[in-house]
Amino acid sequence: MSNNKKILAEEKRYLADTSRVKYFDVVIDHGKGATITDADGRDYIDLLASASATNTGHSHPHVVAAIAEQAEKLIQYTPAYFANTTTAKLTQRLAKLAPGQFEKQVVFGNSGSDANDAIIKFARAYTGRQYIVSFTGAYHGSTYGAISISGVSLNMTRKIGPLLPEVVKVPFPDQNQRLANESDDDFSERLFKQFKLPFETYLPADDVALVIIEPIQGDGGIVKAPQKYMDLVYQFTRDHGIVFAVDEVNQGLGRTGKLWSIDHFGIAPDLMSVGKSIASGLPLSAVIGRREIMASLSAPANVYTTAGNPVTAAAAMATLDVIETEKLVARSERIGNFAKAFFEKAAKRYDFIGDVRMYGLNGGIDIVDSQGQPDDEATTKLIYRIFELGAIMISLRGNTLRFQPPLVITQAALESAFAMISQAFSELEAGQLTLPETDNHIGW
Ligand code: PMP
Repeated sequence: MSNNKKILAEEKRYLADTSRVKYFDVVIDHGKGATITDADGRDYIDLLASASATNTGHSHPHVVAAIAEQAEKLIQYTPAYFANTTTAKLTQRLAKLAPGQFEKQVVFGNSGSDANDAIIKFARAYTGRQYIVSFTGAYHGSTYGAISISGVSLNMTRKIGPLLPEVVKVPFPDQNQRLANESDDDFSERLFKQFKLPFETYLPADDVALVIIEPIQGDGGIVKAPQKYMDLVYQFTRDHGIVFAVDEVNQGLGRTGKLWSIDHFGIAPDLMSVGKSIASGLPLSAVIGRREIMASLSAPANVYTTAGNPVTAAAAMATLDVIETEKLVARSERIGNFAKAFFEKAAKRYDFIGDVRMYGLNGGIDIVDSQGQPDDEATTKLIYRIFELGAIMISLRGNTLRFQPPLVITQAALESAFAMISQAFSELEAGQLTLPETDNHIGW
């Protein structure tokens, strides 16, 4: 039996089923750059880096050195009670990184989920209101607060209710809802009418504390809201004294070809959550926000024993160094254009490729049937074949290929990944791909 299979079989006895979304029978042993290696010594190109929280690639030497140096110096002294030199530096650096010409403060967390919980707390405390507006297709995390404001997976909310009350979900302007030949502006206005519906019927807008959005939805399929829609929603929050927050956990830190995904829209949010890649994979998150909003809570309303831990803070400082010195934001945009051209060319050739969305090195590629409808089965066949050929790529919402390699991926590795994907496309067209026997249900 392979090491992969042996380890998985043993682990299965002890690991609760809910811990892991079902995918490939693989056990990761180590990684370098854009390559990960399994317990049997097999290499894969990583096309899942944003989800996996490694925009700077696996074990980047500068990040590794910073972690080692900090671990020698101090692993942990709870930031919930005492400042430490490393985290203090990061706090200042992060506050200055968020958009907006106003004073900002930072609060740390351990995960994207608890950062979004903090956003709920701040918005309610600051406004003295309770309602929260979030979007269908959004993913904000797995704590009770974050799950309550998410709108992407039935399997996450099944059996665990009641969720947080007073959350209203409005439709995200997903391109799937766009009418034929509808312009960006018409689409924005039509969807904004749907956004406003609750406030015209049963929910006074001045009872709303928070609107939280992923400007480009990640787990929802790499879907970008149109500019006009964002402008209308943002203005609505200004008109009604509502806190406007963006979730940058997935799409932030250069992934979309800008430092933050909200930078595509020229809007400075009141609050912003950051996580995942901020510490190149160590558990650190943050909310960066307007000073007066952040001042609305006093300790210990949002303290955690290890939030802002010095090793994670050192990793975050090193991550920000790498993003700057290796110009990863510009690189994301440049290589992203190259990837976009690859997938658009494939879409011309293969009818089963529907919409191609690529913002930076960050793509969602829809797989459809002959009627143009989502084809989850073909998508599963593709990702399994791509895995067999040597790249880790997963699907979103059933029929979207998720393309998010580390921002440091080399041209050679990218081309190898394209060769594997091309081969899988041509085998799908030739009817040569089958569903794997062991896994008939994957994903969310
Ligand atoms: N927000 C977004 C946009 C995310 O993509 C995720 C994770 N997929 C989260 C929040 C939750 O982050 P975490 O898993 O670190 O709690």
